Amino acid sequence: NETLVSVENLGVRFAVKRGGGWGKASYLYAVDDVSFEIKRGETLAIVGESGSGKTTTALAVARLVEAYQGKVNLDGTDFLSLDDEASRLARAKMQFIFQDPYSSLNPRLRAEQIVREPLDSLSTMDEAEKKEIVDRLFAEVGLRPEQQRLFPHQFSGGQRQRIGIARALATQPDLIICDEAVSALDVAVQAQILNLLRKLQADLNLTYLFISHDLGVVQHMCDSIAVMYMGRVVEHGTRMDLFNNPLHPYTSALLSAVPSVDKARREATKRILIPGDPPDPVNLPAGCRFANRCPVAQDICRSQDPALRDVKGGHKVACHLVGEDAVSPL
Ligand code: SF4
Repeated sequence: NETLVSVENLGVRFAVKRGGGWGKASYLYAVDDVSFEIKRGETLAIVGESGSGKTTTALAVARLVEAYQGKVNLDGTDFLSLDDEASRLARAKMQFIFQDPYSSLNPRLRAEQIVREPLDSLSTMDEAEKKEIVDRLFAEVGLRPEQQRLFPHQFSGGQRQRIGIARALATQPDLIICDEAVSALDVAVQAQILNLLRKLQADLNLTYLFISHDLGVVQHMCDSIAVMYMGRVVEHGTRMDLFNNPLHPYTSALLSAVPSVDKARREATKRILIPGDPPDPVNLPAGCRFANRCPVAQDICRSQDPALRDVKGGHKVACHLVGEDAVSPL
């Protein structure tokens, strides 16, 4: 598959007010030198806890927050350097599905108007064509034609997420960014929505950037995974790489919290607890950002910042204790 999205050295920082005045600028580097690629028709999951920079990364990819450095190449176009009008058109090729479909759907509009809205603002189609597309989208996401007349509050959470998905599909995007798209739903409904997203991906050759704090949610959903911690990617590889051979201690800890359906694996996996809190993001430590919580930290970890490097056929990790043999230090 060809590469649809390529992100290089992306950086987002926010000026932070500290103490009595602005004085010397302090920055919070919410996204610090992040790079990845997504192939057309595939899914990359970015996983991390809140404050890891995963959502800010997604927003910067879509130009909804400003990056101070880096490049986003979208289907051959240098997206971040387009002028406003060109970027508005390009952004139609990139749509979001948000965590809370209720707050992202206008309560005063009928479902059919919500799904049609992106077509109204972006295309010159006539009403009959738009109606045909809306009818098809409702069918594709598993909603009944008569539900088009209802308002958001008349739907369940899962149904509202289906409306959000139909709206995201209206402009025939190449890339869909799912930001915690199923986190607000209960487990049974989560599974239905994930299945729907997978089916739509297969039918329409969609590409997903899937943002989640939960490795369990992404395990049946993605081709590759980037784990973020404190603004950085600390491990990046295929789903098999990460699930079968997690290398970064933080990834191992996240994975140990995922309930496995496989009994042997469940029994073999000890829950790894991560003590303490992340460091102050405005005043980062000199060495590894995970050092104060890492169960195997050494002296070198507290003085030298580990770079993300390829240790085995594209499996990348930022940890001093992982060598060329790609064995977890835990
Ligand atoms: Fe832990 Fe050191 Fe690896 Fe950081 S570099 S994850 S502190 S072992």
